[in-house]
Order: sequence, then structure tokens, then C-alpha cells
Amino acid sequence: MRGVVMHAPGDVRVQDRPDPIIEQPTDAVIRVTASCICGSDLWPYRGAEPVHDAPMGHEYIGVVEQVGGDVKDIQVGDYVVGSFVASDNTCEICRAGFQSRCVHQVMMGAIGTQAEKARIPLADGTLVKVPGEPTEAQARSLLAASDVLGTGWFAAVAAEAGPGKTVAVVGDGAVGLLGILAAKRLGAERIIAMSRHAERQTLARTFGATDVVEERGEAGIAKIKELTDGYGAHSTIEAVGTQESMTQAIGATRPGGHVGYVGVSHGVELDGLDLFFATVNLLGGPAPVRRFLPELIDLIMRDQIDPGVVFDLELPLEDAAEGYKAMDERRATKVLLTV
Ligand SMILES: [Zn+2]
Repeated sequence: MRGVVMHAPGDVRVQDRPDPIIEQPTDAVIRVTASCICGSDLWPYRGAEPVHDAPMGHEYIGVVEQVGGDVKDIQVGDYVVGSFVASDNTCEICRAGFQSRCVHQVMMGAIGTQAEKARIPLADGTLVKVPGEPTEAQARSLLAASDVLGTGWFAAVAAEAGPGKTVAVVGDGAVGLLGILAAKRLGAERIIAMSRHAERQTLARTFGATDVVEERGEAGIAKIKELTDGYGAHSTIEAVGTQESMTQAIGATRPGGHVGYVGVSHGVELDGLDLFFATVNLLGGPAPVRRFLPELIDLIMRDQIDPGVVFDLELPLEDAAEGYKAMDERRATKVLLTV
């Protein structure tokens, strides 16, 4: 099969990779119908994480081609969505809703779903069957559910976005934008998008942002306070993962408020005393997308939400290198790879 491999930072190639096989009786093999490039794939691409000959990709939708002997709920021919972490969905951590930290977790990025096929470990726990045949627009949204929508949703839930709440969103990538959509669906009264990118501001407003703040750092925090009578936001979504974004998120949140942080942390250090006096609730980490998939699939298949519009560039798998380049140069927010 064909699949994406990152040989070194900036060096992405599509090449022949071995066809996946059933390795464990709990595995399935799917034919990937669409995959995409994640903002987190840019960390190794830019040399911020070491990378050497790594298969790439952890988002996927597809059709089941084979199942192992112990797979009971998922069948050959099912149209499925899974998250970027394979999970058994039965251990105590999973049952508490934190499937991304399942005691048997397998990171799908190590398998690489930017490919024609993929092995899905723990298929019964990981995959969720889509009822019926999705339209093209629904398929794009289902692919978004696999990571960016599910992650934005978790961030909004972790930040306790809801009725009467003012939500600040740090980061205008796909996750931040879909965090806005999630906050809106969860009933937030006011949603402040922090962005200085005109097209992303427009999309932010489409998804439900009521205000846009272009300032960053201390000036950004001051602006959020100014918009909230000096209090700060009740709920802040952090969707970048840098020192600046995390400091901004905590600083923009009022005492007693909640920060949902889902940007993969790179070089972030928090001062203990600053954190002590910030008096905010912090919950974040790799999003347990699996917790939200059944609800998100239902909303998408009933056309209640359209998160697939975050994909602003669609390329065949063979042109994946161009997709990485476009995202790296911020010419694209989110690239869909058709397989
Ligand atoms: Zn588990």
C-alpha cells in the first residue's frame, strides 16, 4: 500500500509500505477513505520533535476490511470512525471517560493512518460505526470528529463552557476553531476568539464567536479582562501548546474559572507561585475523543453541525508533501488527504 513517511524534518514522502495485517485477535484492518494532516504533525516537520523515517497520520475514517477472531461489535463492511488513540473502552480509565489514557492505549500515530489501509488495535473499543452512508460533506465532518472536533469538544467540556459562560479561545487552528463550535453547542453566552488571521476570524464567527481579540500576551489578557468587566473569562480553551499560549490562557481566566488545555505542550513551564495565585482549574491532555464520538457522529449524520468546513485544502494522498508545506506556511488551516 501507499503511505506517508516523514524521513526527517521537512522531508515528507509517499511511498510503498507493507500492507497491515491482523496482528492481535482484537485488531481490525480498515481501508482508509480519508485521512488528514494534523497541526501536531507540524512539530516534527519543523524539527521541534525528533523524527526519523516515521509513518505519519492518526486521523482516519474508513471501511472495515478484516477483523480478528475476538472482534465482536465491528464487522467487515462497516463504515467507521476512530480516535487518534486506540483504547479498550472497558478499563476503569476508559469507563471514567478518559479513553486517551486507557491502560492498553495504542497511539495511532505510531501506526500511521495517512495511508491506504491501517491496522486498528482494540477495534471494538476504538471504532464507532457510522449509521448509514455519509454524504461527502458528512464524511469530511466525520474525519474532523476523529481528532480536531473531538479535541476541541473536550477542551470546551474541560473548560466547563456552558450557559451563561464567557469562553476565551487561545489558538485559531482547527482545534481552536472547533472548540468555538463546541462551546456554542454547549450553550456558552459569549465566545471570544483570539486570532489575528482574517479568514480564521471569519470562520470563528461562523462557528459562534461573538468577539475577536487580536492582541497577544499581556495585551491579550488585558483585552479579555476589559471585555469581561475586569474579571476574565469563566472558561478558556488553550489550543496551541506554547509557553505564550498557556500563560495567556491562564492569565485570561478569572479566579475559580476553568482552563481546558489541549495544545500538545512544547517547552511550557509554569511558575508554581503564579499558578498558586491564579486559582484556576486546569484540565487537559490528549483528548479522550472516543468519549464524544457517538454524540458527534449523531450530530453530524443529522446535519446539526458541519465541522468539516475547517478543511480548506483537499489533496490526493500522493501529494501529502504539498499538504504539509501548505500547513507549515499557514496557507491551509487543515488539509484533507483523499485515499
Ligand atoms: Zn481502557
